[in-house]
Amino acid sequence: MKKEIKVYRDLMGANEEWAQKTRVLLQEKKTIMINLIGSPGAGKTALLEKSHTLLAPPLRLAVLEGDVETTKDAERLLPLNIPVSQLLTGGACHLEAKLVHYALLDLPLDNLDLVIVENVGNLVCPAEFDIGEKAKIAVLSVTEGEDKALKYPLLFREAQAVVITKKDLLPYLPFRLDACLEAVKQINSQAPVFVLSSLTGEGLDAWAGWLKEFGH
Ligand code: MG
Ligand code: ZN
Repeated sequence: MKKEIKVYRDLMGANEEWAQKTRVLLQEKKTIMINLIGSPGAGKTALLEKSHTLLAPPLRLAVLEGDVETTKDAERLLPLNIPVSQLLTGGACHLEAKLVHYALLDLPLDNLDLVIVENVGNLVCPAEFDIGEKAKIAVLSVTEGEDKALKYPLLFREAQAVVITKKDLLPYLPFRLDACLEAVKQINSQAPVFVLSSLTGEGLDAWAGWLKEFGH
């Protein structure tokens, strides 16, 4: 049984206008959209795979997977049995609002509470391009630099929550978690920070609990 993945690509337009259209659409449909932003390999797709069972039910969920090429990430999420579409930029390093908007129009928005967009792996322009989301979530793994928040302040300043992934690897790395948390706090003292491992499941409950509250 091979399920079909809807693929969207090559839609560009005045970004702010499309983001605003999306905000109106989502408000009308009482659906919340969040925008996951992190480096390639930060563990965004793994986080979605593992968060799903903690969120749905009660949340009715859909995912829009953003990538430069391939439908690999959308395929990974097919077993979750939720609507998943693949957005391909064909080279661009961020998702544009128009592309997201068209993918949203094909989702059963009347029956959805939360749409999670996984942006293209990149810490710079995804933070600059409004896609009409309610919140940006910064995703950072412990295999990256502990000073990431200082180096990419826009994303961390704008984030409504910060997720630090791959906690299970901490014993094997020189990564100082306290220094990382301090850096995040320096840029954004408001956002809750969730330190978790999608592999072991540690810390996932707190993250999912927060998201559930947020998605209501
Ligand atoms: Mg991914
Ligand atoms: Zn870009």
